[in-house]
Amino acid sequence: MQSSSRDRLHEITAGTHAAIDLDAYETNLNVLRTIAGRDRSLMAIVKANAYGHGAIQCAESAARAGAAFLGVARIDEALQLRRAGIERPVLIVGPPNTAQIDLALASNVQLTVSTEAAFDHVAAAAQRMNAPASVHLKVDTGLHRYGALPDLAVSLARRMAESEWIDFRGIYTHFSSSDERDPEPTNDQIAIMQRVLDQLEKQDLTPEYVHVANSAGIIERFFNQTNLVRAGIASYGLDPSDDVPVDTRFKPVMSVHSVLARRFVLAQGEPVSYNRTYRAERDEPTATVPIGYADGIERHLSNTGWFSHKGRRCPIRGRVCMDQTVIGVPEDAEEGDLVTIFGDGSNDEMTINELARMCSTNTYEIPVRVAARVPRIFLRSGEPVAWSVPLLGEHGSFS
Ligand SMILES: *Cc1c(COP(=O)(O)O)cnc(C)c1O
Repeated sequence: MQSSSRDRLHEITAGTHAAIDLDAYETNLNVLRTIAGRDRSLMAIVKANAYGHGAIQCAESAARAGAAFLGVARIDEALQLRRAGIERPVLIVGPPNTAQIDLALASNVQLTVSTEAAFDHVAAAAQRMNAPASVHLKVDTGLHRYGALPDLAVSLARRMAESEWIDFRGIYTHFSSSDERDPEPTNDQIAIMQRVLDQLEKQDLTPEYVHVANSAGIIERFFNQTNLVRAGIASYGLDPSDDVPVDTRFKPVMSVHSVLARRFVLAQGEPVSYNRTYRAERDEPTATVPIGYADGIERHLSNTGWFSHKGRRCPIRGRVCMDQTVIGVPEDAEEGDLVTIFGDGSNDEMTINELARMCSTNTYEIPVRVAARVPRIFLRSGEPVAWSVPLLGEHGSFS
């Protein structure tokens, strides 16, 4: 295993790959815990393969950094963590696939319930397994995707407290607009949540955990009477939005790199890539890089974005293709040289925050779209400690 891991490191770093800085991730989590304060626990949101960063390695790292909970969107994502030996409490922060509830309970995964039907499914499954299910109640305070409206929330809370098959562990809601400058929509949601909490309090139904804040909510300190926060995007060192950026204590966790696979001179007047959208203005040193939109590099960056070679900008020439991109390179660039696609900006490379703006999307979508065929290398103190090749379902460590 040891030597094959070393071979893997050589293979992975010789081609297109993502580097995941676990020190940066833990630093960001610690900053978020500091902002949230001593009285609040932290749930590290590692859904969608930890926003593309690598769920297993980020979950282990989050546990090390003191995250009390892990949050995922799908039961399969929770099972992935359990199969990797991760024992931290895991909450499914969405409506569970009812056909997988037994699986979830067998793996000690906490579920979200926000309808009578989901309550019945979960209670029946718990009875079959002869062990109570740990459940959080989700309240719809205005996002209106799912969740129990306030009256239903109060009656569901009562049913949960009375059921021997439901262990009522928490209640929460999710903000629609905490990443905007205007606090009013969030304050409205908090007021609705507070009325629900007041009613539970009166009936002595308040569960152990009350949670509302996502990353932007943490940064903007929308906590109120809560004792748990749920951190996703900011833990990866990325701005929740232009209006609510992370401060300088946060560091981007992911960078993506590739290699100059072919170095050539594009003769003056010659076009390059599909549809001939770029022509060389003079004889230009040029290189083909094996990364494209199937790897998660937006086609929108055609003739617009740039990669970085030893701190120098290499403009994208012509169309970004599915598997390849052509760039202009400095005279001294050679085949086999590494280029950075995006990173923390320290070598004048594109950053995810910048990419999101250039591609008219949010910072979430950029790392999430880094494809399963892009291998990941995990770093501590700048040194590789683990790797994964999601496409092959393989991963290992160097320690
Ligand atoms: C994804 C998600 C989060 C994390 O949101 P960020 O903005 O990435 O911090 C928190 N809570 C719920 C319910 C989510 O679905």
